[in-house]
Amino acid sequence: MGFENFGTVSFTTETKAADFVSYLEQGKVMTTKCKKCGTRYFPPKMDCPKCLLSDVEWSEIKGDVKLISYTTVHYGPSGFEDGLRIFSRLSKNIKESDIKPGMKLKVVPIKLPGDRISYEFQQV
Ligand SMILES: [Zn+2]
Repeated sequence: MGFENFGTVSFTTETKAADFVSYLEQGKVMTTKCKKCGTRYFPPKMDCPKCLLSDVEWSEIKGDVKLISYTTVHYGPSGFEDGLRIFSRLSKNIKESDIKPGMKLKVVPIKLPGDRISYEFQQV
């Protein structure tokens, strides 16, 4: 994940990012899935970099997810505006020493002060 999408955020992307927030408000954390190749993206991508298409559909994350890599530096999901204040993060309840690749996590929506909504990864 990088900053390559900066400056290319379209109206459509913003609309779909708003959808992501309204799903969070319903208690659902969603990924996007490319309708052509079936690749799922989280944080959601509004365009499939493999097919170069914007033909994606929303798909709810159910069950556990596996931590592949972890860094203490976080970026907002690519393609999402900073104004939405969505950050991917690990729960504060997870001890730094417990964090390891391959650990099982679940992703849950959380409310933040100031009417903000986000999501975090919690230990299963
Ligand atoms: Zn694709």
